Amino acid sequence: MGNKLSLTILALFYVLATFAQAGFDNWFEKKSLRVDFALSGNSEYQAAALQQLREEPVWAGPVKNLIDDFYYGGYYANVYDKSSGQLIYSRGFNTLFEEWRSTEQAKKEVQSWTNSVSVPFPKKEIVLEITGRDKEDMRFHTLLKLDIDPTSIFIDRSKLKENKTTNIQNKGDLADKIDLVFLGEGYTAEEQDKFVADARKFTESLFKTPPFDTRREDFNVWAVGLISEESGPDVSGKGIFKNTALNSGYYTFGVDRYLTTPDMKSIRDAVWNVPCDAIFILVNTDMYGGGGMYNFYAMGTSDNPRTPVVFVHEFGHSFAGLADEYFSSEVAYDDGFYNLKREPWEPNITTLIDFDSKWKDLLPAGIPVPTPLDNAHKNNIGVFEGGGYLAKGIYRPMDHCMMRDYAPFCPACSRAILRMIDFLSDK
Ligand SMILES: [Zn+2]
Repeated sequence: MGNKLSLTILALFYVLATFAQAGFDNWFEKKSLRVDFALSGNSEYQAAALQQLREEPVWAGPVKNLIDDFYYGGYYANVYDKSSGQLIYSRGFNTLFEEWRSTEQAKKEVQSWTNSVSVPFPKKEIVLEITGRDKEDMRFHTLLKLDIDPTSIFIDRSKLKENKTTNIQNKGDLADKIDLVFLGEGYTAEEQDKFVADARKFTESLFKTPPFDTRREDFNVWAVGLISEESGPDVSGKGIFKNTALNSGYYTFGVDRYLTTPDMKSIRDAVWNVPCDAIFILVNTDMYGGGGMYNFYAMGTSDNPRTPVVFVHEFGHSFAGLADEYFSSEVAYDDGFYNLKREPWEPNITTLIDFDSKWKDLLPAGIPVPTPLDNAHKNNIGVFEGGGYLAKGIYRPMDHCMMRDYAPFCPACSRAILRMIDFLSDK
């Protein structure tokens, strides 16, 4: 390629990048608008209602990739310019409430859970819409629509508690980098040094794991030390209850190893002034367990021998929207979690309703679909029955994967992770 041509191409890239950045600057300031809202309902219905709006001082998310066209998750936050109606920002996410709606309990009672999203802070009046996906048609339907004036007196602009924040890894500007935040849970004032050491340990396990090992330069890593009054999480099934910063506990939905917290408000309060694209809550215990929901948070424990791989597995859920590929463990979901008459949205499982949208292009010629689990096929990519908590009707890309049994990520999962890294780092 001649010098002139490559210069022209470079100039074109520069113009495109400047144009994209100008799009952000036209609509937004580099601060966040945090929207806390309740999701209420049961297995049959859900509704959303506003709880609070907050102006927070940092925006670390993309400034070019403002529209999320992955269509992952059970919910979307959409931001429209009010005067023109143009969609100017969107992002999908999951919630723990959505999982609860699949439990037996949700057939018998109504609950209300706090959730929270952050969007870039608007310069002009916007319409903020929260949509929820209906499992029957897999489409998003409006749950909440709000007109928001960025100058409104109803936006709380107060500071919150300043927690001790340690920069574990700094690779550059917040907008181009993915800011991964570790939150310390169940660490007392005397255990804060242990928390930072644990966060360093897990940073290393993440960036030793393919495909994250090839993209370490795209991540900044922060450790936010929260002081808990007592050490370790709740283990409610054994009568153990601790006073901790984020109210985490095992026995989520009655499953002993399922470690989560419903306390989204405390999580968002903890990161109010920290650059944050992804949250990992590190729980100070040696018990086995964890949990992770797409673009919500992931949680794992500090000292179990298996926690370095559990950490990567849970981060696969929360960061890249990956489904569990296992199908034999006890789970809390009544009637199954997936609608077998529809294609699930997760990139690493399929019901074969719309396999073309998944990893079909990664299959070598001649691989039968579905693929028999015989000696000729079991060590390669295929379409193997069993996944998403079901032995029949859902298919996974490889026999073994990080999302099944802590083997290396399969090619479909790896590609999904790399695509998300590209999106969040504004590639
Ligand atoms: Zn996989």
